[in-house]
Amino acid sequence: MIKQNSYYLISLGCAKNTVDSHSMSALLDLAGYHPATSVENAEILIVNTCGFIHPAREESFEVLTELSKSKQQDQILIAGGCLTQRFPGLVAQRIPNVDGIFGTRRWMDIIDVLSTIKNRNDTTPYRHTSASEYVGTDEKGIIRTAIQGGSAYLKIADGCRRNCAFCAIPLIKGTTVSRPVEDILRDATALQNYGIKELILIAQDTTDYGFDLGIKDGLANLLGKILHSVPNIPWVRILYNYPGYVTDALIDVMANNAQVLPYFDLPLQHADPNILKKMNRPSNIDWVYKTIEKLRNAIPDLAIRTTFITGFPGETETEFLSLLKFVEELQFDHVGVFPYSFEKGTPAEALGDPVPENVKLDRVERLMAAQEKISYAKNQTLVGKEMGILIEGNGDGISVGRTYRDAPEIDGLVILDKEAPVGDLVRGVITSAMVHDLTARLLS
Ligand code: SF4
Repeated sequence: MIKQNSYYLISLGCAKNTVDSHSMSALLDLAGYHPATSVENAEILIVNTCGFIHPAREESFEVLTELSKSKQQDQILIAGGCLTQRFPGLVAQRIPNVDGIFGTRRWMDIIDVLSTIKNRNDTTPYRHTSASEYVGTDEKGIIRTAIQGGSAYLKIADGCRRNCAFCAIPLIKGTTVSRPVEDILRDATALQNYGIKELILIAQDTTDYGFDLGIKDGLANLLGKILHSVPNIPWVRILYNYPGYVTDALIDVMANNAQVLPYFDLPLQHADPNILKKMNRPSNIDWVYKTIEKLRNAIPDLAIRTTFITGFPGETETEFLSLLKFVEELQFDHVGVFPYSFEKGTPAEALGDPVPENVKLDRVERLMAAQEKISYAKNQTLVGKEMGILIEGNGDGISVGRTYRDAPEIDGLVILDKEAPVGDLVRGVITSAMVHDLTARLLS
């Protein structure tokens, strides 16, 4: 049976979307709505969609189609997020049963969207999209975070002013808008009071933080202030650093503060200068070698994560082999590899999609096979070491957690031999290692 004023919110896509979904839930709860236990008994169904690449869009459409088919007469179906920001007309066309549509930067208008839908007689979908109205603050005092167990993502900026040829994010989200320092510090302090053990700073490009506010070395500056404000959060992790913009000041703050995890996420996308130029990305590979050396010298036991794209338009076998050699040389700790996804409207649209799908996937496999050997060897060196492990789940006499070397959802896990409370930061001795995951003995 449908419960009045109840909502069921499905969040798809990346951590940045999860943050928006949690903020939307907080607004709904404040306005007197309450979460439903299932789709069937919710009055309001909300899907926070992802529109980044083709498979993500299809997943969003599948979820919306399912909900649209099962939708009962008194239910309201709302689509928000990146897919609706980019293709509002297409969503209305493919999901005729949808009642409301709003874009990714209008999540904070969810209550207004709902009351408009409830008070109108029109049966066509209500569209509420306007990226330009975003003011970058939490107008209703809502913390822009997503909390999962002992970890919380904290968004420091939204949008992106880079021009990577393959990427639709600037089209969807617009240029970078940094959040004011005081808002971020207020949220970080609230999370400390909540008992969070791991604070994860995110943005499309964290190294660009503060540029639009006229702050020099914005990320290093912000990080220093955050560390000062939240001395009781033991783990602070930074994701999505853009190559070419990692400054000495940032490395210094990381190296001189035990709270900042020795973990560095540097999505490189490729290593061949020719492909990087076509991608509109920094192509100075010398900078990458030097910066990684500098990071490793300054920060002991540093874990480095990166991502690559195979099959970018025109990528030759020779260019791919130079990427493979680079991966073998640099010995990253974690590597994600994705086949190129053709996106209309991006700067790379004019290049078409000439590399056949089977070639793209073959290159993904070859790159992953090379990296798996590296990751396995690196994980083996951890056996016998005592490490801090943040517990993410437990049951049946065991626990699952992560060390500082693993970011949530994208890296590996540690399986512990005993149950420990979710959100606790425990000590364990690593007993065995696989390519991605570890096992450990819990120390009491
Ligand atoms: S840095 Fe490049 S890949 Fe990342 S969001 Fe911005 S345009 Fe996209």
